[in-house]
Amino acid sequence: MRQTVPLGRMAGIRIGMHWSVLVMVILIGWLLGAQVLPAMTPHQLAVAYWAVAVPCAAAFMAALLAHELAHSPVARRYGGPVTSITLWALGGVAELGSEPPTARADSRIATAGPATGRRADIGRAGCGGPRRGRPGHRRRRARLARRDERPARGLQPAPRRPA
Ligand SMILES: [Zn+2]
Repeated sequence: MRQTVPLGRMAGIRIGMHWSVLVMVILIGWLLGAQVLPAMTPHQLAVAYWAVAVPCAAAFMAALLAHELAHSPVARRYGGPVTSITLWALGGVAELGSEPPTARADSRIATAGPATGRRADIGRAGCGGPRRGRPGHRRRRARLARRDERPARGLQPAPRRPA
């Protein structure tokens, strides 16, 4: 993917974006500022909606960049550095300097990006989503973990009958 707007370098990686990113940022900002936020919290000043919507749209793009940057240290570990990152309307592309040596290395490089999004929770911070550290959060997580570890009904081994 060709970079139409160069953004600079970060840790030796050429970072840029395709013009379609602007379409996505405007779309996300408009959806939040003119549709979602007024429906969720009516009767506020329009400037308040936009004061939340614009940083959220920018945070979305920052999350995409963080996702793509996360591929880099893992790729370097396997000897194939990321040479460039290009953001575009539907995500980003991290270009590797060389092919990963094994399928396992390829898999680890590929999963580093989504793993970062999971750890960072960038998209949720300050944009109305659930936050860590809310009252009862740990209790709910522990309850869900216990539920996930229970064997599903019908999958439990049948009781043994004497022969
Ligand atoms: Zn990725």
